[in-house]
Amino acid sequence: MSKYDVVIIGSGPGGYVAAIRCAQLGFKTAIIEKYNTLGGTCLNVGCIPSKALLDSSEHFYKMNHEFAEHGIDVTGAKLDFAKMIERKQGVVDITCDGVAFLMKKNKIEVITGTGSFKDKNTILINGKDEIKADKVIIATGSKPINLPFAKIDKDRVITSTEALKLKEVPKHLVLIGGGIIGLEMGSVYLRLGSEVTVVEFADRLTPGMDSDIGKEMKRVLSKQGMKFELSTKVNDVSVKGKVVTVKAENKKGEAVEFKGDYCLVAVGRKPYTEGLGLDKAGVKLDERGRVEVDGHLQTNIPGIYAIGDVVKGAMLAHKAEEEGVFVAEVIAGQKPHIHYNLIPGVCYTWPEAAGVGATEEELKEGKADYKVGKFPFKALGRARASMDTDGFVKILADKKTDEILGVHIVGARAADLIMEGVVAMEYRASAEDVCRMSHPHPTYSEAFKEACMAATADRAIHV
Ligand code: FAD
Repeated sequence: MSKYDVVIIGSGPGGYVAAIRCAQLGFKTAIIEKYNTLGGTCLNVGCIPSKALLDSSEHFYKMNHEFAEHGIDVTGAKLDFAKMIERKQGVVDITCDGVAFLMKKNKIEVITGTGSFKDKNTILINGKDEIKADKVIIATGSKPINLPFAKIDKDRVITSTEALKLKEVPKHLVLIGGGIIGLEMGSVYLRLGSEVTVVEFADRLTPGMDSDIGKEMKRVLSKQGMKFELSTKVNDVSVKGKVVTVKAENKKGEAVEFKGDYCLVAVGRKPYTEGLGLDKAGVKLDERGRVEVDGHLQTNIPGIYAIGDVVKGAMLAHKAEEEGVFVAEVIAGQKPHIHYNLIPGVCYTWPEAAGVGATEEELKEGKADYKVGKFPFKALGRARASMDTDGFVKILADKKTDEILGVHIVGARAADLIMEGVVAMEYRASAEDVCRMSHPHPTYSEAFKEACMAATADRAIHV
């Protein structure tokens, strides 16, 4: 029977990063993955394929809506959707192969099969073969939440996983859920020509982000043609032939109905622990079905840790990665730290949206004394040059000390721009610190500096 210092169950960004760090720290490491490819949700059916389709569809959208204004005539250009899906799969394959290469390079044993606990230190592979582990890291991720009245048939009623590999562009995609995954997938198909109707229970989009982001996203995506039914509660989804009917109740209490050829259910994800045999090891779950962990990401059973989507916190790949490194270093006796408040969230629509730190709602709730600096991209030369004038940078800073408490951006390249906020906040910069740093001209980053100027003393230059 093989024996390892550390065995990791699940090869998503949490698991495979933990495995590499464990190997770097000198542990004999094995990783168990039930699928044939490594990389988990993120690489196979999440971050990477969705961004590949977002990039392809954005080219198509720009070609149809913006090229003419740039003086480029592309009359006669056509969409080859099958090719687009094929390219996406190519990107996925090469990225997953990259993880397999990293496992080999770091001498990590890859075991294909479903891992489950026999006891605290014994893991069964597909219920039979046993391996022994001194320490175990649970990194089994998450899966989409189902609605009890919306049976996912994977044909007409789908999750993001099926939406990434459709055989045709929907005529009318009815999207349940106006969160990040829904808006990203909705954007893909809107750009490719689908009618897209978003039905959302909350009164705004991207509910976890600063409310100004949700408002701006609604304005901009509406301009692109996406339709929104907010404060609307879906209560039934049925399929007849190729027609999906979504029934709901709107904010006035009226019954409303949407008919489409596809319905994408994107109402969030839940931790995945099925078949893990946690009871055999005595590992506890919390009230929301997540593996319960302490400040060291250790479960109630010493020597068993858990990371990523299967534990509390943001369901994001980079959060899982941070936790993978953290646990490996804890096991090695080091004293790592994760600044959870500084894990940025991003929505990869166009324009992109990103946020880090406190939202304005959170500051209000905590009765914080804060000030706001905002700068619109339409006042920026770089944004006009690229026709990306929608959105803003919003800086929230402490009223007395000027320390930056939160950064919220809607705009071109917000996903990359947000890192200036993360670095500034990690070093506890004031808004004025950022004002005094030279920002290259012309760049989108100038909007960040201008928003900080607006926050410091209402002294933005270009508005
Ligand atoms: P996962 O990536 O879910 O990996 C868990 C792995 O464990 C899986 O491979 C699973 O097969 C395996 N497993 C489970 N049980 C067992 C078992 N018993 N034995 C063996 N193997 C097992 N996040 C971002 O940060 N940025 C994005 O742009 C982004 N886009 C997304 C787009 C979509 C459409 C989706 C669905 C998600 C997106 N996410 C994004 C979220 C991101 O994918 C997850 O937060 C991330 O994958 C979580 O990593 P993880 O390692 O915890 O789990």
